[in-house]
Amino acid sequence: MEILKCEEVVKAVGGTLISGEVNTVFYNISTDSRNIKQGDLFIPLIGERFDGHNYIASALEHGALGSLTQKETEPFPGKVLIKVSDTLKALRDLAVYYRQKFKIPFVGITGSVGKTSTKEMVAAVLSKGFKVLKNQGNFNNEIGVPLTIFNLDKSHEAAVVEMGMSGFGEISRLTSIVKPDIAIITNIGVSHIEKLGSKNNILKAKMEIFEGLNEKGLAILNGDDKLLYGLNNLLKFRTVFYGMEEGLDLRAYNVESLGEKGSTFDIEIRGKEYRVRIPVPGIHNVYNALAGIAVGIELGIPPEKIVEGIEEFSPGKMRLDIINYNGLKIINDAYNASPQSMEAAIDVLKDISGEGRTFAVLGDMLELGEFSKSAHMEVGKYAASKGIDYIVAVGEYRSNIVRGAVEAGAKEEKVFEFKDNMDAAKFLKEFVKSGDVLLVKGSRGMKMEEIVNILTG
Ligand code: ATP
Ligand code: MG
Repeated sequence: MEILKCEEVVKAVGGTLISGEVNTVFYNISTDSRNIKQGDLFIPLIGERFDGHNYIASALEHGALGSLTQKETEPFPGKVLIKVSDTLKALRDLAVYYRQKFKIPFVGITGSVGKTSTKEMVAAVLSKGFKVLKNQGNFNNEIGVPLTIFNLDKSHEAAVVEMGMSGFGEISRLTSIVKPDIAIITNIGVSHIEKLGSKNNILKAKMEIFEGLNEKGLAILNGDDKLLYGLNNLLKFRTVFYGMEEGLDLRAYNVESLGEKGSTFDIEIRGKEYRVRIPVPGIHNVYNALAGIAVGIELGIPPEKIVEGIEEFSPGKMRLDIINYNGLKIINDAYNASPQSMEAAIDVLKDISGEGRTFAVLGDMLELGEFSKSAHMEVGKYAASKGIDYIVAVGEYRSNIVRGAVEAGAKEEKVFEFKDNMDAAKFLKEFVKSGDVLLVKGSRGMKMEEIVNILTG
């Protein structure tokens, strides 16, 4: 972060300086009292379990030069205390103010699945021409996005920011911080349908990203997604629709899977054809790469460099992470799950398995509300219809996965269900043999990596 003066902070958050020197300067923003560095401004947030206000004194003792507060707080000798009405809003307001200091291109990314992967693709391409700031990991919410923005400093030449949501209004608030010059929507799926009720509402919630988009900016949208393609000619922004269908603005063709090694496709950039190799498995990554390519073109990265950037892409942790252990091949995709990403991962399992027996170890997909049972049945059906040899269902919706699989023709003796990871892991440890290929995937709350750890421990 570049230094922020106390005066600037007070103004940006609309607060009142209760104590301390107005000419204090802050070197960083922190919301976590356990990670205070010398010179920080502490912003105490009120969470479900903790109230940061209880740690103001500790933060100040450990080197913070000041703190915001929305409660009655005793002044601390020699330290700044700024009263605000709402510390979370103040965090956002300060990020809005800080963002304005940077006249560099900002790329905002939302969508149901593939946001982090797309962010990494975009960053991989842009790193060929710019020093890039991006969110660390999955810091994509109302706290993670402001903290990402505070990581900007004068050396950055472009910023790529993933924005997540679980209901209306969240992307609206995030895009008002990021003010993207380029907005990407990866797809409209059913993640978070519990809160939003329908796919159309999910589309509307994602479209909030346009509220912050620079009017001369560019919308980069997945053209193979029917709902997104429905926006064609309806937006007041320039658009690039990407995908594999004929007629799209940026199209991947001759798409070929290289199995575990990734995939390749052809693409035309400014009248010239290029062969692109993605070094990670999954045809879904072609879409993520296309979004990265579209950004590279918009920001003037030479096509050869764009292609190079994609070739150097590396995925995040626990996302289709392929582990080879004692002859077993395990696809650890325990990071998270939604119906769309389950199907994408099952495709990868099938694609890389070769001669090996295939196991889909599938845990619950959470936050699907009334769609939960049918969505789990669909996933079971999908796995069986793809000819996965063994289906191992874990969690509350295990019987729905099993029912779907059996309906789609899976033999009952090849479908197993377990109530938790431990039971599933014990069974698998006994059952699997060298040459087998396993996919392990479920929602974050299912902690499916426990199964991977037991199998490889
Ligand atoms: P979150 O909402 O948790 O932040 P995300 O949108 O950032 O998720 P990623 O972390 O990029 O998504 O990917 C999650 C999983 O979804 C991946 O492991 C992969 O299986 C799958 N996936 C990634 N990209 C796509 C895509 N374009 N289409 C379908 N599935 C995808
Ligand atoms: Mg993410």
